[in-house]
Amino acid sequence: MLRVVLLAQGNELTTGQTVDTNSNWIAEQLFPLGIEVVRVVTVPDDLPQLVEVLADAAGRAPLVISTGGLGPTRDDLTTEAVSKAFGLPLAMNSEAMGQVAERYRQMGREMPEINRKQAILPEGATVHENRRGTAPAFSVEVDGTHLFFLPGVPHEMRALMRDSVLPTVLRVFDLQPPIRRIVRVIGLGESTIETRLADLHIDGMVIGFRTKMPENQVKLRFRSNMPTEDIDRAVAEVRRRIGWRAFGVDSGDLGEVVGHALAARDQTVALAESCTAGAITAWLGQTPGASRYLMESAVVYSNAAKTRTCGVPEAMLIEHGAVSEPVARQLAEGIRERADTTWGVGITGVAGPGGGSAEKPVGTVHIAVAGPAGTVHRLLRLPGDRPRVQSLASAAALAMLFRSVTAT
Ligand code: ATP
Ligand code: MG
Repeated sequence: MLRVVLLAQGNELTTGQTVDTNSNWIAEQLFPLGIEVVRVVTVPDDLPQLVEVLADAAGRAPLVISTGGLGPTRDDLTTEAVSKAFGLPLAMNSEAMGQVAERYRQMGREMPEINRKQAILPEGATVHENRRGTAPAFSVEVDGTHLFFLPGVPHEMRALMRDSVLPTVLRVFDLQPPIRRIVRVIGLGESTIETRLADLHIDGMVIGFRTKMPENQVKLRFRSNMPTEDIDRAVAEVRRRIGWRAFGVDSGDLGEVVGHALAARDQTVALAESCTAGAITAWLGQTPGASRYLMESAVVYSNAAKTRTCGVPEAMLIEHGAVSEPVARQLAEGIRERADTTWGVGITGVAGPGGGSAEKPVGTVHIAVAGPAGTVHRLLRLPGDRPRVQSLASAAALAMLFRSVTAT
């Protein structure tokens, strides 16, 4: 993969006054092209530091993209640093001069003498016209490394990336973007996934991890010329090792995947939610076409509602409490019966911050899924504050439903 170093220059970056969004945006553009960012460096407006960082960057990668420091003021040191770092004398560049003058003409303003400085560039530089500002961008090639210098102002930088830098990079370098697959996993920690994949070594495949609450994702990167069958086989092996909790590849999120699984089987679901207050239903409802399988839901916070809607016996509530296995089971079975669906989901728990006890601390959640073959139940002890408990509980409930549906 082509390596690149990104540089962001400016005291306002190193003093925390401005966030370096430029490098972030550039990295995002380069990623799908298969260009690997090996360093992102932020440097103050200080000549010796700039010279050092430039020389280092050029030695590290065949592509360097720098932003900032092209203006006419004394703190704009880029051209001087490039000159010193690579021994390129500075000279008035007539093309750049023409562009700066033209910009002022368009603005209907007289060019201040000081802006001539912006046209003094390292010898041999290629000028890239900045149509949105006065600072001309430029690039130099030093011992096979291509270095681009772009203005710091984000919209100017973005336009130059699109119009000049990316087309040039695509022309100059033989890029081979890797093929990527994301295996999406619910309800397993990174360390568990890592352990299950530990001794899996497939030539041409690199494994990475990313947490995107409530999922953990396994990022697979394949050599660009790897045959599709080999990629499919590798992905299948990763899924097999992780197990059913690897619910999808690239696909939509859990709510969508569960929905497709239901739709594909012509099955339906109803939910009785205490603790999550309808969050699971809302999640399922985000997928277009959800009305084909999402039939009915009840938010049953009060005991009376649990009894009225799902037939939870008062005696059961008194004996076991609202947050208990029998109640979760009855919620699932009761709503399933009432809605006449294939599946019923019942959830009850202590989301916190109040309401916990020694026996049933905050984060205690009972989930039940009732279906054609009976009812399954799980007791969870979830960490975190109220929103986190609710979100993890919702994910766990959908995961259970997914498991039940796909096992049929
Ligand atoms: P100018 O001719 O406008 O001075 P320049 O190339 O000299 O352009 P800088 O002076 O370094 O650029 O930055 C101009 C402005 O662009 C900054 O004040 C800041 O708001 C923004 N900027 C610079 N660098 C970044 C960055 N890395 N991320 C986000 N914004 C930036
Ligand atoms: Mg400036």
